[in-house]
Amino acid sequence: MNYDVIIIGAGPGGIFAAYELVQLAPQMKIAVFEAGHPLKNRRCPIDGDKIKSCISCKSCSIMSGFGGAGAFSDGKYNITNDFGGTLYEYIGKKKALELMHYVDQINTRHGGADCKLYSTAGSHFKTLCVQNDLHLLDASVRHLGTDVNYVVLENIYNLLKDKVTFFFDTPVQSVEKIGGGYRIHCDDASYTCEKCVISVGRIGSKWMERVCRELSIPTKSNRVDIGVRVELPAEVFSHITDALYESKIVYRTKQYGDRVRTFCMNPRGAVVNENTNGIITVNGHSYADPAKQTENTNFALLVAKHFSEPFKDSNGYGESIARLSNMLGGGVIVQRFGDLIRGRRSNPDRIEEAFITPTLKATPGDLSLVLPKRILDGIIEMIYALDKVAPGTANDDTLLYGVEVKFYNMEVDVDETLQSCHDGLYIIGDGSGITHSLSHASASGVHVARNIAARRS
Ligand SMILES: Cc1cc2nc3c(=O)[nH]c(=O)nc-3n(C[C@H](O)[C@H](O)[C@H](O)COP(=O)(O)OP(=O)(O)OC[C@H]3O[C@@H](n4cnc5c(N)ncnc54)[C@H](O)[C@@H]3O)c2cc1C
Repeated sequence: MNYDVIIIGAGPGGIFAAYELVQLAPQMKIAVFEAGHPLKNRRCPIDGDKIKSCISCKSCSIMSGFGGAGAFSDGKYNITNDFGGTLYEYIGKKKALELMHYVDQINTRHGGADCKLYSTAGSHFKTLCVQNDLHLLDASVRHLGTDVNYVVLENIYNLLKDKVTFFFDTPVQSVEKIGGGYRIHCDDASYTCEKCVISVGRIGSKWMERVCRELSIPTKSNRVDIGVRVELPAEVFSHITDALYESKIVYRTKQYGDRVRTFCMNPRGAVVNENTNGIITVNGHSYADPAKQTENTNFALLVAKHFSEPFKDSNGYGESIARLSNMLGGGVIVQRFGDLIRGRRSNPDRIEEAFITPTLKATPGDLSLVLPKRILDGIIEMIYALDKVAPGTANDDTLLYGVEVKFYNMEVDVDETLQSCHDGLYIIGDGSGITHSLSHASASGVHVARNIAARRS
């Protein structure tokens, strides 16, 4: 065998698997194959000047490369079983939390020590929410910020680079089962290993589906989250974000009984484009460095859509809605809440006249032509509900960017060690459909590494 362990994907899942293996079994030969660039070469060409919107690079520097989708994220490591994935269903709640705390320690040791750990414990805001039929989920969150997150990744890479063989710009095309292990096929060469850890994230969802088909690994899939990113003056949410940084608030709509939730809150942050397999959606991030902060706060409002038989392509449904917004707006659409309520599109003049400056250059338009009525009604109801705990949320000038879609990978059938039905083939992180966050994906990497190391000794 060329390697004891091959890890496919250098996002948080793959990085933490490599990190833990190096700590526990330094004698092992480990290789990491990554479709994207090394961290230092990751640069999105959009400069707002010559290149204003996504040009669909071969490897998207926002989503791919060392650090994975998390590299330019807001670096919010939520320590909780309440959201961010269902790792606890496989390994138990106590173990899942322990692993997330362990990941937090590693991050603080590698550059994140000065970043604050926020907690909802004992927050009076929880009471205020429940009094208004809103429900605040429990969590601790270490906010690294995009800048410190980068430094932490840089430090971890420097620690790993002499102990692990990294193959960058090397997408793995397929995984073959051979006697005693696996052979992975890249464009120009093939490599063998005893154990293979697949951690390809959301961007690798289609690839993962193919691998599961080829190796007959059972999967299930039925969920997609669709919504908008809300941007408003930071003062509107500052009483919440100053105390909690990020708040996950859930609301059940009166009209349909659907659940709408806040997601990925970025105080004084910026709204950004996200490119998933050529479809442009919206996301957000913020910096720890006050010099890089903006005057706005942004967060997503998402409605979860679960489908039942015979419909299976929940991601396809989300993609179609995102494509519609791309068709109408050439990318992401932005609309003032006041325009949406009055049934008129936002145009450049109305955006220009607003008392808020958008942080993302998006096309003014009409989200009601894009989002299904049920989803849009839920979002509007939630905005009015949030207005009771954060007055100003329902102001006319509140900006809504659409669409934001959270694609869920199909859930791969794995056991409590995250091993598939094939001995020595592990599937972790967002690519497994089990995790949807930095902390859960990282924790799954540590868990699998500990199991591999234990099998060796
Ligand atoms: C803009 C943005 C902001 C976010 N902010 C937060 C946040 O603040 N907090 C939070 O918890 N989560 C956040 N997330 C989500 C978080 O980044 C992911 O949950 C996390 O990165 C998942 O880690 P992963 O290792 O499973 O996958 P990923 O990070 O997606 O990494 C997978 C890697 O595998 C590589 N790959 C894919 N296919 C192949 C192949 N065939 N061969 C080789 N390599 C391959 C990809 O190039 C990628 O680098 C954010 C995401 C985005 C896009």
